[in-house]
Amino acid sequence: MTDLQERSLSLLAGLGVDRTQLAAGPLAVRSPVDGSLLAELAIAGPAEVASAIGMARAASLAWRDVPAPQRGELVRLLGEELRAAKPQLGELVSIEAGKIGTEGLGEVQEMIDICDFAVGLSRQLYGLTIASERPGHRMMETWHPLGVVGVITAFNFPVAVWAWNAALALVCGNAVVWKPSEKTPLTALACQAIFARAAQRFGQAPAQLNQVVVGLRDTGEALVDDARVALVSATGSTRMGRAVGPRVAQRFGRSLLELGGNNAVIVTPSADLDLAVRGIAFAAVGTAGQRCTSTRRLIVHASVKDALVARLQAAFAKLPIGSPLEAGTLVGPLIDRQAFEAMQAALVAARAEGGTVTGGERVLVAEFPQAFYVRPAIAEMPAQTATVRHETFAPILYVLAYADFADAIALQNGVPQGLSSAIFSNDLREAERFLSASGSDCGIANVNIGTSGAEIGGAFGGEKETGGGRESGSDAWRAYMRRATNTVNYSRELPLAQGVKFDV
Ligand code: NAD
Repeated sequence: MTDLQERSLSLLAGLGVDRTQLAAGPLAVRSPVDGSLLAELAIAGPAEVASAIGMARAASLAWRDVPAPQRGELVRLLGEELRAAKPQLGELVSIEAGKIGTEGLGEVQEMIDICDFAVGLSRQLYGLTIASERPGHRMMETWHPLGVVGVITAFNFPVAVWAWNAALALVCGNAVVWKPSEKTPLTALACQAIFARAAQRFGQAPAQLNQVVVGLRDTGEALVDDARVALVSATGSTRMGRAVGPRVAQRFGRSLLELGGNNAVIVTPSADLDLAVRGIAFAAVGTAGQRCTSTRRLIVHASVKDALVARLQAAFAKLPIGSPLEAGTLVGPLIDRQAFEAMQAALVAARAEGGTVTGGERVLVAEFPQAFYVRPAIAEMPAQTATVRHETFAPILYVLAYADFADAIALQNGVPQGLSSAIFSNDLREAERFLSASGSDCGIANVNIGTSGAEIGGAFGGEKETGGGRESGSDAWRAYMRRATNTVNYSRELPLAQGVKFDV
């Protein structure tokens, strides 16, 4: 048994995961830290998925009649359990997904934050009262639970995305069936054990309100195709969303898609370059460039380009790359060999398109022959080529120069994805233009901070090939409920709308 396997088994046991689940089938789970095998899990086939949905459906029928503020109490307890489990779950995220320590812990903090948000929300699921045109009538809208929410998640936020969905779905009166990434199912089993403790403390909430189905794409497809799943909230690549969206639409289900990004930072001549270097470096290389909001494109005014690129190259050259479990590391591993090969292919293509690349090479090969650590790359490009327009899920920062501000906005918007964007500028006109209707076309547009690291209070998601969904804060809860418009007649007459007469 490797050290990491031993450590993860001990963390999983401490978090309450039954050991028999960890040597139960063909799904090999490996750590990106050193490539070692952590566990072998059973895969849920169509019958298991159908049964999980059936249990969730039954649980949702009782749960929908529990008053929303009481449902909030379950989520409050979940937040408490997460607070208690934070060090262990954070470390497990680092082992399974390769995130550095503070990011693993930060991910759990994000789960706690969304629980707190959802507890407050449980008393604020407001509908409108609407003026009726008819005397003695009142109109209003009420919001009701949907039933079962299917949640499909990506490897790079293995637990937070579940919490974003589950905390809202639960206070909204739904049950959840979760298909985690096949690359990170252990943290999902840990979350299920944590949830079970909260449900037990709550008393009347069935543990079946949250189900985990582990597996590959077919397991996800079984969830997607089941008509009992009212909403499919799917986070992952645009390729996945292109498959999932039409399948859910085919059966008139709802989908909430959170897909790939190709996020840009614009740096204008008036920008504070110290701030820009720090903001861009964190967003470009944090999580080894494996965030949906990672900065992938730098669109910089020609007058500051050389100075900024030189500073970024110097910062990238001395980044501490290494095991995410060691203090001081800022750049951990790529998730697997496939991710490494996709990065190398993108760099070859960028060079062929006229780009000049620094960095990008594999490092620490002797120490970690079975894992994939890379030095983040900077690729100065002559134009926004096909490779730049594609999301490669690795730390590559493409640099494009601009002369005219309108061109900078056109470049920013000139990609198929529309998740996150930022501008570094001290020119109020440029900053406001960037945020205006004719500015950034993304779901997230920031000023003087980078593209990644969103807080849970705002709605999260993006446009175009990013899928259009919104999760987390603001009024994202509405996606997890159905709206009923009610008209109540408290008069003795029956007037019809629009002056229609129909006397019988
Ligand atoms: P992926 O698309 O390979 O897998 C995501 C999930 O979808 C996995 O659980 C997978 O098993 C499942 N899946 C794949 N095909 C499916 C299908 N046809 N039917 C049902 N389920 C299917 O993504 P990944 O490599 O795990 O994650 C990286 C991608 O996710 C990047 O593109 C990144 O930008 C994106 N992402 C987006 C957000 C966001 O909020 N917009 C957040 C995190 C990650």
